[in-house]
Amino acid sequence: MPKKQKPVKRQRKDSFLTRNFLKRQLDILEAELEKNRILAGAARKSLTAEREATADLLDLSATVQLIEDNISELQRHMVRVIQIRKAQKLIWTLLEGQADDEEYGKCIGFQGIECGMLIPQRRLEAVPWTLRCIRCEEKAEAGGKT
Ligand SMILES: [Zn+2]
Repeated sequence: MPKKQKPVKRQRKDSFLTRNFLKRQLDILEAELEKNRILAGAARKSLTAEREATADLLDLSATVQLIEDNISELQRHMVRVIQIRKAQKLIWTLLEGQADDEEYGKCIGFQGIECGMLIPQRRLEAVPWTLRCIRCEEKAEAGGKT
């Protein structure tokens, strides 16, 4: 089924999602993406080092703890990278003047439950990669999924 291309429908009365605002968000996202790539790379590197250290069986439980910490750090950065890429894609779609079912600044809901709430400007400025409103985000975090 060919995808329908419809013009951007602005539901916001305040309409702060101007081109300038979106471009600023893209700049922040790009910097954040780079930062997370570097941090993920560092976590991956020390994970390899720790795995090699395990072979010595020197202090196994401490090493296991380190590895676990590193894995969750790595996961955190990878999840962030996925969120950033998604937010970037949504912004590009908006800038191209197209709209999808999902729209930057509109909550994607949680576990298949649609929300569609418009994320306030202050939240988008504080967390440019956010895809959810506060309420859905809290539910997602409680559910262990981001
Ligand atoms: Zn929501």
